[in-house]
Amino acid sequence: RDPNVKKPGWLRQRAPQGEKYSRLHDSLAELKLNTVCVEAQCPNIGECWNGGGGAGGEGDGIATATIMLLGDTCTRGCRFCAVKTSRNPAPPDPMEPQNTARAIASWGVEYIVLTSVDRDDLPDGGSDHFAQTVKAIKPEILVECLTSDFRGDLEAVSNLATSGLDVFAHNIETVKRLQRIVRDPRAGYEQSLSVLKHAKQCKPGMVTKSSIMLGLGESDEEIEKTMMDLRAMDVDILTLGQYLQPTPLHLTVKEYVSPEKFAFWKEYGEQLGFRYVASGPLVRSSYRAGELFVQNLVR
Ligand code: SF4
Ligand code: SF4
Repeated sequence: RDPNVKKPGWLRQRAPQGEKYSRLHDSLAELKLNTVCVEAQCPNIGECWNGGGGAGGEGDGIATATIMLLGDTCTRGCRFCAVKTSRNPAPPDPMEPQNTARAIASWGVEYIVLTSVDRDDLPDGGSDHFAQTVKAIKPEILVECLTSDFRGDLEAVSNLATSGLDVFAHNIETVKRLQRIVRDPRAGYEQSLSVLKHAKQCKPGMVTKSSIMLGLGESDEEIEKTMMDLRAMDVDILTLGQYLQPTPLHLTVKEYVSPEKFAFWKEYGEQLGFRYVASGPLVRSSYRAGELFVQNLVR
C-alpha cells in the first residue's frame, strides 16, 4: 500500500449471517464446488448469498454465487490480480461442465456467475467449455458469464454469447490511459469494447455488463469517458468498486474513493442510460447480481 494513503473505515468487512447464507454455506462442503465468494473471502458474501437484505439480513431476493471454471491458473498476469500464473496451465477437465451443472442444481442458488482465468493456451480461449457449462445449467437457473476477451476472437465471443446465457459480462477494468499499467499487455481498451459490442450484436435483447475499478489514479474526466464509451457499445449494466491491493507486490492504491463519490457515479451512470449501476467501495462485478438483474431487467 502507498504509505500516504490510509485505508478508511468504510472498507471494514462484516461477518456474514442469515438463514439462506447458512444453508448455502453448509451444503457447499459436500458439492466440491469452488466459489470465488469463499476462495477470495469476498466481503459481499452475506448480501449475495442471502439474496439481499444487507450483510446480516434475510433477503427475499435471488441468491447469487460465482464459480471459477477452467482451473485456478491464468496465462496472463494483470497487476491488480492475485490469481497464480503459468504459460501452460493444466488442461481443462472435460467433466467440469456436467459436474458443475449437477452440483449447482442441487445447491439451491438462483443466479450463478461463471467466470474463469484467461486461457490463451487454448485455441478458443475456453469459450466452448464455458458454453457447454451454460447449456448444462440452463434453463433452471439464471446464468451470467464473466468472460475474458478471448484475445479479441469474435467467433469465440459469439459461441459463448449464443449458448443460452442471460448476461454476458466482460470487464474493461480501468480507463484507457491506465490499461497498460493495470492489465496484462494482451488485454486492451479497444479490444474489450469490441468484445462487448460483438456480444450485444449476437442476439436480439442480449444483456451486457462491464466493470471499472476506481482508486488506481484515474481522473473524473477519464471515468466519464469510459462510461460513455461503454454506453456507446450499448452496455446495459455497470459496476464500480474500489481497487484493493491484494499483496504488496501488486499495484498500490492511489486513492480510497468515498461512498458519496460512488453514489455520484451511480447517478451519473444511470443518467447516461445504463439500466442499472451498482457502485460502492466494496462492490465487485457480481455484487448482488441476481437480485439486481431481476429487479431492474425482468420485473
Ligand atoms: Fe460472490 Fe461475487 Fe457476491 Fe462476492 S460479489 S459474494 S464473489 S457473487
Ligand atoms: Fe487475473 Fe483475469 Fe488478469 Fe488472469 S486475466 S491475471 S485472472 S484479472
